Formats: sequence, C-alpha cells, structure tokens
Amino acid sequence: MKRILLIEDDDTIVYGISELLKEEGFDTAAVSTLAGAFGADVRDFCLVLLDLGLPDGEGWDFLEETGKNGETPVIILTAREDEKDIIKGLDMGADDYVTKPFKAGILLSRIRAVLRRQREYKETGAVLRCGNIVLDKNGTLVMSGDREIGLTAGEFRLLMYLMENKNITLTRNTLLGYLWDSGGDYVNDNTLTVTVKRLREKLGEDAGRMLRTVRGIGYKLEDGND
Ligand code: CA
Repeated sequence: MKRILLIEDDDTIVYGISELLKEEGFDTAAVSTLAGAFGADVRDFCLVLLDLGLPDGEGWDFLEETGKNGETPVIILTAREDEKDIIKGLDMGADDYVTKPFKAGILLSRIRAVLRRQREYKETGAVLRCGNIVLDKNGTLVMSGDREIGLTAGEFRLLMYLMENKNITLTRNTLLGYLWDSGGDYVNDNTLTVTVKRLREKLGEDAGRMLRTVRGIGYKLEDGND
C-alpha cells in the first residue's frame, strides 16, 4: 500500500506535494482541517504528513491520537522551526520533523527513510533469517537464496523452531516435544531424523550445511556469524 495522507491547509503545498509523490508512485489523499484528519482512517495509509497549524486546531491533537495506536508513521511538516517544537513532536511519537520551506528531494528521502524503518520494524519477528535462508512466519514462505522452497507443515515447523533458536543446540527431546503434530500424534525419533534429512535436501547444499547434527545431542542451525 503506497498511499500517503496529507494533512495540510495550504492548497499550493498540497498540490506540490501530491505531484511530487505521484512521480514517486504514491497516491495521496489530502485533508485541510483537523476535523478532516480525525475523520480519515489512518490505517489506510502507509504514512501521514502533518502540518501543525490548521484552521480548526493544532496538529498536536492529531499526533496525540495517532501516537496511541502508533501503526502509521507520521512526519511533521511545518514552518515552525523552534527546537522546542521539534523535540515536542519527536517526543510525542512523530517519526520525523521537516521544516518549511523544504527541498523536494530531501522530503522524499526523509519519507523513504521512515518507510524503510517501518518495514524493518514490521519484519522483526515475522521474518526470520539465517545465512541465506529467509522464513516468513505469516506467509509460511521459505526462501533459500533466491529460490522459494516448498516444505511440509512438519518441515516448516522444525525449520522455524531452529531459526528462532539459531546457533543454539536443541536436543532431540526438545525438538520432539515441540513437534507434536496437529492431530496430537507424537512425532517419533525416527521421524525427526527423516524430517531433518528432507529439510537439508530441500534447503540445498549451502543452506543445508548450516543445519548441523550435534552428535549424541541433537541439532543446531548455524549461520556462522555469531
Ligand atoms: Ca498550516
């Protein structure tokens, strides 16, 4: 979703920014009042550009509200350049503060930086990485290098658990305890061996080598970095 909400009462600035963002592939919606801002569903947008001086109130009130659910990043865009306003804005949860007049290129790069941070933040937890293996918990997608690999539910669960505990040796008992299947059937010791073997094959030579057998104990997924 590349849609930006512009809360701004200066028509010239609204026009300029909308055109600028359009060239960058963003859609924009603009509201010119605080009431309009409160009427918009910020969850529909990937970012909000917020003016502070609005005809029916102060942008601070909007920031205070959005700061509470904090999903959509906000960049304050204002002529106010006092240090105390900048500090107040950032302390209230704004992701950046840009003063008017601004240079188009700088505003765009600030926008990109905020969106990048937001993406990285969202990915923490949902996407696991180990070496060149990437596992998306939500999408149940696994990549080994640039290749998407298809795993069974059991293989996926095993890999996810190993990735969540990467560089830690997991005993066979720990893994067996974790790998109850959905029907409640206990995964037996031999099944674990076979599942590991299949997983290694599917990951391919390089990635498969990271899945180490710790003799007499269990398994460990190593990325070799730490
Ligand atoms: Ca204004």
